[in-house]
Amino acid sequence: MSKYNLHYAGLKDGIHEFEYLLKQDFFDMFEHPLVQGANVLIHLTVTKSAVMVVLDIKVSGTVHVECHRCLEEFEMPLDMRKTIIVKTTGDDNEVDGDNIIRADNAHDIHLAQHLYDVVSLSIPLKVTHPDNASGGMGCNEETLRTIAKYMVKNEKQDDPRWDLLKKINNN
Ligand SMILES: [Zn+2]
Repeated sequence: MSKYNLHYAGLKDGIHEFEYLLKQDFFDMFEHPLVQGANVLIHLTVTKSAVMVVLDIKVSGTVHVECHRCLEEFEMPLDMRKTIIVKTTGDDNEVDGDNIIRADNAHDIHLAQHLYDVVSLSIPLKVTHPDNASGGMGCNEETLRTIAKYMVKNEKQDDPRWDLLKKINNN
């Protein structure tokens, strides 16, 4: 994880740009890896001043996910941006642990968790294929039909069990 430590003490005041390419091995370091494959590009703009370091984290690239609707896997493009203010001096009154945080120590800001969190924000709880050009569901229609058939079949199969339960209850 030390690869993702920003050594801000060594930076001059002003703007600095960094890029990170996050592959699956990055996400596998966390308890919930989020994705089954990743090609995530982080563009980090660091603005350092005497009292704070501003992190502007821009997320692009793709993650490999499974569609909740048709269960097919696909590459979902990411587009997210978050600004975090890291206080390097002063008291903790303004620190909220989310958008305003305190530096991990006098030299470093540990970026890994923040990068993970921003990518996590850019992935909806229920991932689905994006709509197609004509505004309809972007899912594979054939797969959806197969799932619909399977669900109807399962409902029918449940009926005899209910009948059996009713019989037992009546006895
Ligand atoms: Zn789908």
